[in-house]
Amino acid sequence: MPVDTSQPYDDSNIFARILRGEIPAAKVYEDDWALAFNDIAPQAPTHVLVIPKGAYVCWDDFAAQASDAEIAGYVRAIGIVARQLGVDTPGYRLLANCGLDSHQEVPHLHVHLFAGRKLGHMLVPE
Ligand code: 5GP
Repeated sequence: MPVDTSQPYDDSNIFARILRGEIPAAKVYEDDWALAFNDIAPQAPTHVLVIPKGAYVCWDDFAAQASDAEIAGYVRAIGIVARQLGVDTPGYRLLANCGLDSHQEVPHLHVHLFAGRKLGHMLVPE
C-alpha cells in the first residue's frame, strides 16, 4: 500500500522495527545517524537501503525537520556505504520514493542504492 506522506510518522513501520532490533536485517553499515541493510527483495545484484535513525516519513519531511547534524550524518553515510561496497566505480544509482505517486511503501525515509549491473534509463517509459 503506497504511503500517504500527509500522515504523521507511524512508529510501527517495518524500518522502525528494524531500527529497534525487533526484526532482523542483513546489516551493511551503521553509525550514529544511519543504518544500511540489504533489501529483502533485491532488484539489482547490489540493492541496499540506507535509512536515517530519526523518525522521518520521507525526504522533504527530513529536509524540513532534521537537524543539520542529522542531515550531514545521513548524507555522508550514503556516500560511505557506496564506497565501502566498492560501487563508486563503475557506478550506482540512488533512489528515494516519496509519497503516493512514487509508490513509496515503507513510511520511514529510505534511499535505495542499486549497483552491480547496467541500470538502464532512469525511468521506465510509459
Ligand atoms: P519503497 O517502495 O518504499 O521505496 O521501498 C521499500 C523497500 O523495502 C522495497 O524495496 C522492499 O523490498 C523493502 N522491504 C520491505 N520490507 C522489508 C523488510 O522487512 N526487510 C528488508 N530488508 N527490506 C524490506
